[in-house]
Parts: sequence; structure tokens; C-alpha cells
Amino acid sequence: MAGDYYKILGVARDASAAEIKKAYRKLARKYHPDVNPGNKDAELKFKEIQEAYTVLSDPEKRKQYDTFGHVEFDRGEGFDPSAYARRAGVWQDAGPFHFDFGGFGRAEEMGGFQDLGDLFGQIFGGGRSTRRKPRPRPGADQEMIIEIDFKDAVRGTTAVLPVQRQITCSTCGGAGNVHGRVCPACHGAGVVISTERLRIKIPEGVQNGSKIRVSGKGAEGTLGGRTGDLYVRVKVRPHPFFKREGDNIRTTVPVTFPEAYLGAKIEVGTIHGPVRATVPPGTQSGQTFRLRGKGARNLKTRAFGDHLYTVQIVVPKVVSPAGKEIARRVADLYTKDPRAGVPRSLD
Ligand SMILES: [Zn+2]
Repeated sequence: MAGDYYKILGVARDASAAEIKKAYRKLARKYHPDVNPGNKDAELKFKEIQEAYTVLSDPEKRKQYDTFGHVEFDRGEGFDPSAYARRAGVWQDAGPFHFDFGGFGRAEEMGGFQDLGDLFGQIFGGGRSTRRKPRPRPGADQEMIIEIDFKDAVRGTTAVLPVQRQITCSTCGGAGNVHGRVCPACHGAGVVISTERLRIKIPEGVQNGSKIRVSGKGAEGTLGGRTGDLYVRVKVRPHPFFKREGDNIRTTVPVTFPEAYLGAKIEVGTIHGPVRATVPPGTQSGQTFRLRGKGARNLKTRAFGDHLYTVQIVVPKVVSPAGKEIARRVADLYTKDPRAGVPRSLD
């Protein structure tokens, strides 16, 4: 075990940390006991690589090694992982990896490192579980956003969405390896990302911000863990005319002065189609009227909201001598100043 650590990893003495890591990773994959079952030479080689990397990947230990060589690391008793660990303080600063050096020689006892991806995840801080015995894990819920038209939100629709999901690798069944070799399909991760086209029912009445749960379409669980759900968050494109307010729909309806003054039957457009509505005599601009049950469907109660329309009195743009005469006569109809109750300033 007194070989030159740089030679073992096949790197120059001035190799960068990245180069060392890359070289180690390549060699570790090649000589991993699971990839070489029963091969004692590979096992030894693997331990050697492991030892070299542990020292060279740590700036402090690398400096010591560069200065003192093997004195600090090899006391002629062969490589004793636990003794080494005590001397070098591996366990204190091991960072993301917590594996047992001795364990590599006993892969079978440990369940054969069912998941090589897990192992490398630990070594390189890949973020996967550090548990030695894999247990069923539930899949994560996933969320995505869908943008739909106002009309589709009000009436409901069916959307076909490409959904990326994490699923169990079908080549290795999630084990990460096939016949002792790293699975070529998932590279040992046990899971792959698949894109599925999902038909998603958007129920009548969804609102901007509504969340639709699609059961069992999140990430797949591992080893029989339950599959997560997919949450589709709905973004509704606004409509230029119809505005939604809770379950109510609001519009503004222009009317003529005679319609407002005399009263009229007018057509009001609603999301359910045109509705004949009454404008009572003496209607003011800005007055709001209600058409019951002509609003949007409530997702929970399934009841419809109302349609609220606000009247806006439109003045003719053409000014003629005859029109002026009529307007003067209309002015006589105002018995009091319409601005009488309006504040004249802040004070
Ligand atoms: Zn696989």
C-alpha cells in the first residue's frame, strides 16, 4: 500500500482538485467490487484508489503527503481503514460520504450495493440517501403550470400536457445494476426521467391559481413506495370583456341616454350567452345590475355565481344644431345641481 498516490490515480503532482476527482471517479467505477465480483486484485486496487483519493482530495492531507510522503499515512501494517480514519480524522471531515472502507470487500453481505448510483451519490455528494439498506421511499409530488384561455376555464376543457416524471428504470427494475454491471439505461441511478403526454381534465369553473390534483402522476416511489401526485396550477389568460370576481362575472354595458332615461330592454352578453335584461327608467351611469346564476361555476358547490353588469351612459359624438336644442331642453330636466354633494377639496 506504499504506492505513489499520484501514480495510483494516474495524475500529475500538480493536478487540480477537479482532475483528481475525475481520475478517481473513473478508476473507482472501473475497479468497484460490484463491477468485478470475486476479483481480489480489483478489490485491492479499489482500496488503493480509495486511499489515494482520500488523501489527495483533502488539501491539508495532500500537503502533508507532499511534504512527508507515506510516513504519515502508512505504518507498514497495510491499510487499516479504522486506524487510518482515527489518524487522519476521516470521519470528522468526510463531508457528504459516510461509507465504510471495509464494506467494499463485503459487497454481498451488504446486499451487493443494490444501487451503485446511491454509492456514487454518497461519494460525490450527489444528494441521494446515505442509508445502506434501501427502504421504500415515496415519490415526490410534482407541480406544473398550465396556461389556458378564459373561455376554457369557464367551460372546462381537456388539456394534453407533456409531463416529465421520474420513474423506475425498466432496464434494471430500479436496482441500478444488471448482472453486476452498472445499468446502461439509468447509469446506476435506478430511476429515469420519462416524458408522458397526459390528458388532464380541467373542470368547468377553474380560476386563476386553481390547483388540480392528478393522483399518482408525480415521481414514482422506489422499492414499492407510493407514487407522488401531480399538481397542475392553472393560470387563466384574462378576457378583454368578461372579468371574473370569485364566482361572479362582471361586465360594463354601454347604454344611450334615452335607454337610461326612459328605461329599456337590452341584451347583455354573459358567459352563458346573451340575456335580455331590463334597464329601469332613470338609470344612472355606473349603476350595477345583477343577473342571478349567470356567473361562473363554483368548483366545490357546483353552483353558478351571478353576472353583474355596470351601465355606462354614452353621449352622442355628433353635435348638431337640432341636437343642441334637445340638449338644452334636457338640461331643464335636472332639478338640482348633480355635483351638489361632491366635495370641492380635501379640506
Ligand atoms: Zn437502470
